[in-house]
Amino acid sequence: MAGLSAATALARAGRSVIVLDKGRGPGGRMAARRVELGGANVSFDHGAQYFTARDPGFRAAVAAWEASGAVARWPAAGDDAWVGTPGMNAPIRAMAESLDVRWGVRAEMLTRIGAGWRIAAGEQTFHAATVLVAVPAEQAAVLLTDVAPDLAALAGGVQSAPCWAVMAGFAGRLPIAGDTYRSETAAISWAARNSAKPGRSGAETWVIHASAQRSLELIDWPKADAAAALLADFFAATGTAPAAPPAALMHLDAHRWLYALPQALTGEGARFDPALRLGIAGDYLHSPRVEGAWASGRALAGLVDQERAASPS
Ligand SMILES: Cc1cc2nc3c(=O)[nH]c(=O)nc-3n(C[C@H](O)[C@H](O)[C@H](O)COP(=O)(O)OP(=O)(O)OC[C@H]3O[C@@H](n4cnc5c(N)ncnc54)[C@H](O)[C@@H]3O)c2cc1C
Repeated sequence: MAGLSAATALARAGRSVIVLDKGRGPGGRMAARRVELGGANVSFDHGAQYFTARDPGFRAAVAAWEASGAVARWPAAGDDAWVGTPGMNAPIRAMAESLDVRWGVRAEMLTRIGAGWRIAAGEQTFHAATVLVAVPAEQAAVLLTDVAPDLAALAGGVQSAPCWAVMAGFAGRLPIAGDTYRSETAAISWAARNSAKPGRSGAETWVIHASAQRSLELIDWPKADAAAALLADFFAATGTAPAAPPAALMHLDAHRWLYALPQALTGEGARFDPALRLGIAGDYLHSPRVEGAWASGRALAGLVDQERAASPS
């Protein structure tokens, strides 16, 4: 979200932008995973569950996505809750469509060459006048440590909480009132009936997030074991077992987000080093939310443009 938000603004301002993303497709932490279940394709939002839109600029972006069918309101999560449709990654896909995005390309090393940059990415090499790094804080710190110690220190000062996400599919409706579950104290911090989000169809599906503490306890567990343990936690928390056995389990998987939610935020929005022509953006520089990532990307694009206005050559 942060990278594409910056890239969209810069492309609109007439810059030539290439986006490299190591993911196989659009999403990042707004990913959606497709699975075949009972002969039909379903998709699980295993990262961000919904987002809010308070900033006027972000509201305008959300309104455009709504008009194109890429997002819809999801009242089950709140009055100002939005989700991508048919999957959470839809707005990411929508932004990527009008940009030059290279999926499956992991930036491994940045090297300053004269007044520009060389980016080594596996077998490929890219050259750019300006590099903007919009990846989770811990990963930004690694990429930047040799070339921009100040930016690396800023990113390296942030710690992100992990999150185990369980994706479960059932043969019938679980006897749980409502489509969401939240707790500040239980092992499960959040669960949602994924299949009840707007634009979804197919079998009953749930996404279950472990609390930061429970995620840490299980951090090194194989994913099958973590999925089973967290499903049991979920049934216990919602009272669906053992008294009322749930509908038959058809699918169970888990994803471990090592850097789910940044905890120590700088609140700065974004940072750009005009001498190096190197900048950073991400939720960790604003707020640990989809909207925070968008705002950070937009702020970084603003800093790059400001610098161009100051030195038009
Ligand atoms: C489990 C979970 C639940 C959440 N729930 C919510 C929620 O309900 N509401 C909400 O608003 N927010 C939620 N969030 C937070 C929200 O998802 C993030 O704040 C936001 O998506 C972060 O966007 P970003 O662009 O900063 O980072 P990311 O989405 O992490 O994007 C970084 C991108 O960089 C790519 N990348 C990383 N390293 C490299 C590299 N070396 N080379 C190339 N590409 C690279 C990645 O593939 C990724 O696409 C949740 C997050 C998680 C994980």
